Amino acid sequence: MGGLTLGGGIGWMVRKYGLALDNLVKAEVVTAAGEIVTASPLEQPELFWALRGGGGNFGVVTHFTFRAHPLSTVHAGPIRYDVEDLAPLLRGWRDVMRGAPEELNATFLAMPSFGPEMPASTQILVCYADSDEAAAEAAVEPLRGLLGARDADIREKDYVDVLEDPQPPEAPLTIVANNGFAPDFSDDAIDAIARVQRELGGVLMIRSLRGAFNLVSADETAFGFRDSEMLVISAAFLPPDAPPAATDRVRALWAEVSPFLAGSYGNFLSGSDEQAIAAMFPLATRSRLAAIKHRYDPQNLFSQNQNIAPVST
Ligand SMILES: Cc1cc2nc3c(=O)[nH]c(=O)nc-3n(C[C@H](O)[C@H](O)[C@H](O)COP(=O)(O)OP(=O)(O)OC[C@H]3O[C@@H](n4cnc5c(N)ncnc54)[C@H](O)[C@@H]3O)c2cc1C
Repeated sequence: MGGLTLGGGIGWMVRKYGLALDNLVKAEVVTAAGEIVTASPLEQPELFWALRGGGGNFGVVTHFTFRAHPLSTVHAGPIRYDVEDLAPLLRGWRDVMRGAPEELNATFLAMPSFGPEMPASTQILVCYADSDEAAAEAAVEPLRGLLGARDADIREKDYVDVLEDPQPPEAPLTIVANNGFAPDFSDDAIDAIARVQRELGGVLMIRSLRGAFNLVSADETAFGFRDSEMLVISAAFLPPDAPPAATDRVRALWAEVSPFLAGSYGNFLSGSDEQAIAAMFPLATRSRLAAIKHRYDPQNLFSQNQNIAPVST
């Protein structure tokens, strides 16, 4: 919960209840000076702002207080598709999500084969965040009718059971991962993503946002890019002995998608170099974080992270 919440927290109810950090109401923090302080909208509000998106830069959170939401069961599971070209399916999915209720959360997932136990697949994973079966079925039905739909396994279940992700078998591979927020999941963006995925053949995961995620303004927390429609995540797999040119090729292909994206989700970035930090925050957010860092950690004690360097104002 620590890194997840302080960096964002995109869960299966992001369209209904926002990010994990949107549901944080109070945090107890041990600061670089060794003080124990409470951060909330009323106490140390600047620290509270910075904690919600600024990661572990401002202290050690020893207690999180969250707003909880009543929920009995959800309707969740995969819809599987047989398609050669991802673009028409992605367009259809986007159109459904644009008119869908906030209860419907969905992730598009295209995976290569990880051996006989995990063959290649194209799926839309859905979680309808309510126990109302008729409403869930009405929301999901349009996805079942998309081009190439093969079968589905959507069932009523406890929310905790949705969190058990199947893990791909471990293999000695180098993963080159990229991600970015799409403010507008346009036809052109989709064509570029489908083209690059065809070349890369790795994992493509796209999480639908909007809803409650968009209702928080970009400067209300240190998590920017609130106007996003989708989060696009790509992971290419290379043999461990692949030459640097292979990584360069992945980066060059991803560059074809980049013009359609703004910023990156830090919790899905493996890097913590300057390029990664620059992608994680809009400029105004980063400047404000640097000033708050200077106030709470002027010596940069908390530096073994996606680091915000202190800047005095
Ligand atoms: C299999 C897998 C699935 C994932 N799925 C999702 C997902 O669905 N949605 C999503 O949003 N993210 C997801 N993530 C990413 C996840 O949000 C990040 O990996 C996150 O950093 C995990 O937090 P942690 O505390 O476990 O990690 P850690 O590596 O322990 O911490 C990451 C950083 O957070 C900071 N930190 C952690 N705890 C504290 C604390 N108490 N006080 C101060 N700083 C702290 C530190 O700076 C640390 O460097 C997934 C990751 C994995 C590996």
